[in-house]
Amino acid sequence: MAENKIPYKIYLEENEMPKQWYNVRADMKNKPAPLLNPGTLEPMTAEELGGVFCDELVAQELDNDTPYIDIPQEIRDFYKMYRPSPLVRAYCLEEKLQTPAKIYYKFEGNNTSGSHKLNSAIAQAYYAKKQGLKGVTTETGAGQWGTALSMACSYLDLDCKVYMVKVSYEQKPFRREVMRVYGASVTPSPSMETEIGKKINAEHPGTTGSLGCAISEAVEVAVKNPGYRYVLGSVLNQVLLHQSVIGLETKAALDKYNIKPDIIIGCAGGGSNLGGLISPFMGEKLRGEADYRIIAVEPASCPSFTRGKFAYDFCDTGMVCPLAKMYTLGADFIPSANHAGGLRYHGMSPVLSQLYDDGLMEAVTAVQTDVFEAAETFARVEGILPAPESSHAIKVAIDEALKCKETGEEKTIVFGLTGTGYFDMVAYEKFHDGEMTDYIPTDEELAKYAEKLPKVEK
Ligand SMILES: *Cc1c(COP(=O)(O)O)cnc(C)c1O
Repeated sequence: MAENKIPYKIYLEENEMPKQWYNVRADMKNKPAPLLNPGTLEPMTAEELGGVFCDELVAQELDNDTPYIDIPQEIRDFYKMYRPSPLVRAYCLEEKLQTPAKIYYKFEGNNTSGSHKLNSAIAQAYYAKKQGLKGVTTETGAGQWGTALSMACSYLDLDCKVYMVKVSYEQKPFRREVMRVYGASVTPSPSMETEIGKKINAEHPGTTGSLGCAISEAVEVAVKNPGYRYVLGSVLNQVLLHQSVIGLETKAALDKYNIKPDIIIGCAGGGSNLGGLISPFMGEKLRGEADYRIIAVEPASCPSFTRGKFAYDFCDTGMVCPLAKMYTLGADFIPSANHAGGLRYHGMSPVLSQLYDDGLMEAVTAVQTDVFEAAETFARVEGILPAPESSHAIKVAIDEALKCKETGEEKTIVFGLTGTGYFDMVAYEKFHDGEMTDYIPTDEELAKYAEKLPKVEK
């Protein structure tokens, strides 16, 4: 059978790796809405953004028109340490499910940070270094982004200050230590080192923190310290641009064997891996060259796309960041304490939000016990221990494959396997011990946060 010619893993040769990132905004008819200055509610200028982000990244953030942007040689050389990442044909999972569907996954967990986040971390650190900066500040939740950034900064000899959501700082000491191996300073957030941290601690004594709050602290430190800028691991246009390397490699690997996917699936926290994975496919869709079903999967406990509002909102709790128009649950929203599966950010990439609002992609939710069950099904046949975040995509890939089993359709499904779950064993433990529950916020709860969205007539 011709079918057997497709190997378990499709690798690209070094010279087949992307030399440019693809900027899907160039092909969007409805561009993502601009970031707004929280004071004046006018679009942020390059100059204003330059106080927070480094110059080249500001240019990328604001560029809605250039379709391809060269990947600097230094970044391509760094990529070669852990890329290309394999596109794996999930023969064993197909067999287990007895499905006629053909399942592929792009595995981004083959580096020490354990996720796709290194793709953007090295780019952001590179441009900071090129600008002659001393260092960068950032937040991290579960720790993958902080780890990725620490790795990139140590490679380029930049200082790296990470504000880590307190609950993760305490529950994931090993993540913290990995960051320190790479020379980063790691501070639990909210801390008493920043004005906003002190304020949040005073207003919410004993709080275990949130991503939105850690972002505010990291921004404050960047703005107050000369030679420092802030970097963010998801949501922003520039991050989706860097992550397009995932989609470009995926497409190149599929093209080698003339494979055309029917369905492309990814988990969605802030939207960077999904945005990167789908970019070249979405580009074809926007240009009318091909059609794909594209599905975002989010946790039922943090349902930005499916139950959020498409509106301008703050990116952080402290309201120091620009406003972004996105699907959002409200900047104060924090998923219920029993939520262990990651993807807990209240908002969503403005690029993906616009594409979703234009009906170019779908979104579904999954409850965490189903997600962990899918994770184990996958781990037992494919060998890889997946991150809970990634397992949202696994869950829906399995669902779609089982639908094919009913209908007999031989659809080709591609999903993003964003990372490994070695640092998530407390969550797996809860699942095994039957202590994991599914909490779905009520409409009343969500309405309470939505009420507080800033009033912006744009
Ligand atoms: C951070 C992370 C995600 C979610 O972030 P996105 O920006 O939505 O891609 C997903 N999977 C893993 C493993 C992560 O570390």
